[in-house]
Amino acid sequence: MFTPLPRVPDHPALELEVLDWWERERIFAQLRQLNFGRSKWSFTDGPITANNPMGVHHAWGRTLKDVFQRYKALRGFDQRYQNGFDCQGLWVEVEVERSLGLNSKREIEQFGLAEFARACRDRVAHYAEVITDQSRRLGMWMDWDNDYYTFSDTNIEYIWRFLKVCHERGWLYKGHRSTQWCPRCGTSLSQHEQTDSYRELTHPSLFVRLPLKGHAGESLVVWTTTPWTLPANVAAAVKPDADYILLEGGDWVAAERYADAKPLRTVRGEELVGIEYEGPFDDLPAQAGVAHRVITWGDVTMQEGTGIVHIAPGCGAEDFELARVHNLPVLAPIDESGRMLPPFAEFAGMTTDEVEAPVVESLRARGLLVAADRIHHRYPICWRCSTPLVFRVVDDWFISADEIRQPMLDANATVEWTPGFYGKRMDDWLRNMGDWNISRKRYFGLPLPFYPCACGYLNVVGSVAELRERATAGLEQLTELHRPWVDEVVISCEKCGTEGLRRVPEVGDAWLDAGIVPFSTLGWQNEEPTPHGYSNGAARGLSGAHLPDHAYWEEWFPADWVSESREQIRLWFYAQSFMSVALDGRSPYRRVLAYERVHDQTGREMHKSWGNAIEANEALERMGADIMRWLYCEQVPSQNINFGYGPADSIKRRLLTLWNSATFFVLYANIEEFTPRYADLEQGPAGDRQPLDRWLLARTQKLLQEVEREYERYWTPGVTRAFESFVGDLSNWYIRRSRRRFYSYDEAAFRTLWYALVQSLRVIAPVMPFLAEHLWRNLVADPCDDAPRSVFLALWPERDEHPDESLLAEMAEVRRVVELGRQARSGSNLKHRQPLRRLVVQGAGLAAGHADEIREELRVKEVEFGRVEAAERRVKPNLPVLGPKLGKELSAVREALAAGEFEELPGGAIRAAGHELAPDEVLIERSGRAGWALAAAGELVVALSTELDDELRLEGRVLDLIHELNGMRREAGLELTDRIAVTLPDGHADLLTHEDWIKDEVLAVSVEAGPAAEPQIAKV
Ligand SMILES: [Zn+2]
Ligand SMILES: [Zn+2]
Repeated sequence: MFTPLPRVPDHPALELEVLDWWERERIFAQLRQLNFGRSKWSFTDGPITANNPMGVHHAWGRTLKDVFQRYKALRGFDQRYQNGFDCQGLWVEVEVERSLGLNSKREIEQFGLAEFARACRDRVAHYAEVITDQSRRLGMWMDWDNDYYTFSDTNIEYIWRFLKVCHERGWLYKGHRSTQWCPRCGTSLSQHEQTDSYRELTHPSLFVRLPLKGHAGESLVVWTTTPWTLPANVAAAVKPDADYILLEGGDWVAAERYADAKPLRTVRGEELVGIEYEGPFDDLPAQAGVAHRVITWGDVTMQEGTGIVHIAPGCGAEDFELARVHNLPVLAPIDESGRMLPPFAEFAGMTTDEVEAPVVESLRARGLLVAADRIHHRYPICWRCSTPLVFRVVDDWFISADEIRQPMLDANATVEWTPGFYGKRMDDWLRNMGDWNISRKRYFGLPLPFYPCACGYLNVVGSVAELRERATAGLEQLTELHRPWVDEVVISCEKCGTEGLRRVPEVGDAWLDAGIVPFSTLGWQNEEPTPHGYSNGAARGLSGAHLPDHAYWEEWFPADWVSESREQIRLWFYAQSFMSVALDGRSPYRRVLAYERVHDQTGREMHKSWGNAIEANEALERMGADIMRWLYCEQVPSQNINFGYGPADSIKRRLLTLWNSATFFVLYANIEEFTPRYADLEQGPAGDRQPLDRWLLARTQKLLQEVEREYERYWTPGVTRAFESFVGDLSNWYIRRSRRRFYSYDEAAFRTLWYALVQSLRVIAPVMPFLAEHLWRNLVADPCDDAPRSVFLALWPERDEHPDESLLAEMAEVRRVVELGRQARSGSNLKHRQPLRRLVVQGAGLAAGHADEIREELRVKEVEFGRVEAAERRVKPNLPVLGPKLGKELSAVREALAAGEFEELPGGAIRAAGHELAPDEVLIERSGRAGWALAAAGELVVALSTELDDELRLEGRVLDLIHELNGMRREAGLELTDRIAVTLPDGHADLLTHEDWIKDEVLAVSVEAGPAAEPQIAKV
C-alpha cells in the first residue's frame, strides 16, 4: 500500500516532518559518507554577516548554494559543506551600538572597548545560531558545527600574512587623502563600499561674493551647497579657456552661465588667474596668513553654479588634488564626528548642518550673499547608518592596485561567469579600481598589524608567533586578536631595535576578513593539520572546524564554483580575487553564478519602513521552503526577483500538476494493488509496453538529458522549465490518454508511470528537496525494501545517451495538432464535449501515424491529412517578441502586414518591410470557409468541420450525460469501484441507443428510462 495523499499538499507541515526525519536518520551524514573520497567538487561559501536574522534576499543565494551542492552530491562528488559567518567590522559595530544605545565613538570608548568587543562577539554568536536554524529550515545542508568565523584568530592571522606580503612588495602605504567620511561612524569609507549608497537630499544653495583685492567694487561670485566648507576656502577656480564677464553690479561670472547679461567687460579665464580676493571668513584663526587667489582648473563645470568654483582642499577630493598641484594650504574644518574644530572660532563645536545658519547670516550681514535657496540632489550617504557623508582629509592605509591590476584582469579571464556579462562588469571594476583603502578608524575589527617606528621603518607583523617573539610587553593579557587587548602588546623595531612600539589604532576593512577565506579555511602554508584550528580568539567555543594543512589546500583550491549577488563583484569577488592573485597568482574560483536583487511582488524595493518587507521566517512558515526555493530557481538571475505570496501561490498551483499525477497514481495503485520494483529504475519498466509507454520513457530520458545540461551550466530557470514541461506532458498527455488502463489493471502502464514520476522526482530533488523526499519515501522507499531510504542516497539516475528523438518529435507534433484543434473549437462556440465530423490537418507529416489519438482527443469522426483551404488569411506582428526586436521599425512592419504586403518564405517565415520575421514572431489568423473553424501555428494548419447532424447531436448529449452521472457519483461519495444503477427521465430514452457506452463510462450495471424529472443513480 502507498500512503494515500491528500488533495493538496501542506508544504510547511510535510517539510517539518522531512526535516525531523533527515535529522533522526542522519541522511546528510550518510550522503557525505557515501561520497567521501570520491572526486572533489569545491565550493567556497561567501560568509553571511551574523548580525541579524537571515532575510529573503539572503535566501536566494543560500537556495542556489544548496541546489548545486545537492546536485553535485547526487552526481557523487565529495564536498566540504563549510558554512561561513562574517563577524566583525562596521556592520556588527553599528548594530551593537544601536542595541546598547550608544551613538558616537566617544560613547563607545566610555562604555569600554573590552565590554564593547564582548557585546559584538555575543551578538555574532546569537545571530549565527538564528541564521543556522533558518538555513536548516530552508533545507540547506551544511556542516553546521564546523562553520568558519571571520573573527577567529586564525582568520585574522592569515590576513596579517597577506598584509605582510603586500608590505614586502612595497604595495602598502599610508596615504594623506581627502576621503568620504561618515561623521556618525567616525570613519572613512572605501570606494567599493560606497558605490550604491545615495539618497535624494535637500541642501542649501548659496551664491557668495568674494571681493577682489585691488579692484574696488568687483567680486567673484561662487556657488556652493555646503556652507560649512566656506570657512575653509583658500582659492577660487576658473576654466582657463572660458569667457568670464563683469556684470553691472561688479560681479564676475562665466559668460556661458549668464547668456542674457549685458557685460561691462569680457576676459578669458586665464586672465583672472593669480588675482587675490578677500576670503569669506578671513577673521577666523584658521585663516591666518592664507592668501586667497584665483587658480585654473580644466574641469570647472558650466552645467551649474557660476562657472567659478569655491575651493576648500580640506573638504573635497578634487579640491585636495588641486591643492597639491597649486600648492594651496589645506584647512581641515571638522573633527571625526563632523564638528567644526577650535580654529574656526565662532563655529567651533557645531555640526556641518548647524553651521549653515550662522554662515548665511554672517555673509548676508556683510553684503556677501547674492542669493540663498535650497536644492534637491543625489547625495552620498553612509551605506551602514545612512548619515550623509562629508569629505575629510585624513591618514588612511592603502594597498596600491597598480601592479596587481593586470594580473587580476588575467585571472578574471580564466573565470566562467553566469550570466556571462557579469564577467565584463568585473573587468570594468578592475580597470577602474583605485587603491584599496584598508583602514577603518573603529574598534571591533581586524587589528592592522602595523607598528611604525620613529626611525621611519614600518614594522608589519605577519603572525601570532611573530608577535609573541617580538613583544616586549603585554602578552600576558592577550586573549584574542582584538582591541583593546591587542593594543596592549608592544614590540621592538626590526630595524633599529627601539622597544615599546605601539600598533596603529586602525582596524581593517571587513572585506579583508571575507576575502582571505579561500586561504584561511583550507590551511594554505599550514605545515600540520591543526585540530579545531578555527575555534580560537573570539570564535572559541563557536565552531569545531579544523585548520587543515597545505596538502588539503592544494586539493580544494581554487573553488570550482562560488555564488553571491551581483554587487559582490566590487566586494567579495573582488576582495577574494585581490588576495588570491597577490598570494598565489590565480583566481580563487573557476565559475561564478551571480544574481540580482529581491524586490516585492510588485517590483518595488523591499523596505521595512514601507511595510512591504517579508521576513524569511514568515515566508518559510506561510509558503514553505520548497515554494520559496522554486521561486528563486525559476528566476532568471540577471533580473530582480519579485518576491511575495502572489507569485508563491501561482507556483503552488502549477506544482499541483505533479501532486495530482502522484495522487492519481497512488489512488489506482492502491485499488489495483500494484507493487513497484526498485530495479525498474535502472533497467526500465518491464511489461507489455504500448507506443504511449515507449513515448513516456523517451520523454523521461529527454527530461534527464535537459535537466542535466541545465544544472551543468548552473542555470536553474532551465531546470524548472524542463521539469514543468515534462510534468505537463506526463499529466496532460500520458495520464489523460491512459486513464482507462489504470482502471483495469494494466501493469505496463503502472510501471511506466511509476518510473517516470520517480525519475522526475530524483532530478528535481535539488530544487525542492522536501516534496521530492516526501514522495520518494511514499512511492519508492516504503514499497521497495531494496531502495535507498532517501532520494538523496539514490544518487543520480542513469540515462540513455540517445532518447528516441523521432518518437518524441512525432508525439510533440501530435500534441501541437491537438492543441490547434482545441483552439479552432474554442473559437467556434461549440461545446467542448460535442463530437464533430472531420478534421483536416496540413503540414504535420510526423503526426500522420497517430490519427486515432487525434480523433479521440478532439472528438472527431475522421482525421484527414491534406490541404486546408482558407477563405482569408491575415498576418499580425507578435508584439511581445517583435516590439523589443524591431523598436521604431515596428510600425512600418505592422503597416505592411496590415496592407497584405508581405511574402511567405519557406519554413513559415514572413518577409515584410525589409525584415525577415520568424514563424514565432508573427501571428497568422485564418478564417475558414463557411462551416469550418481554422487554427494555425507556423506551417501547421488545422480545419475543423463545425456542422452538426442528428447523430453528432445525440452523441453530444450522451457525453453530457456521462459527465453529469460521474459528477453525481462523486457527490454521493461513491468509491471508484462502486457499481450503480441509472434511471433516466423518459424524455431522454433516445440516449439508450448508447446504453453500453454509458454503462462503461459510469460503471453502471443497468441504464433504464423511467418517470423521473432528472437522471438518478443508486449504488448496487
Ligand atoms: Zn555611518
Ligand atoms: Zn626603528
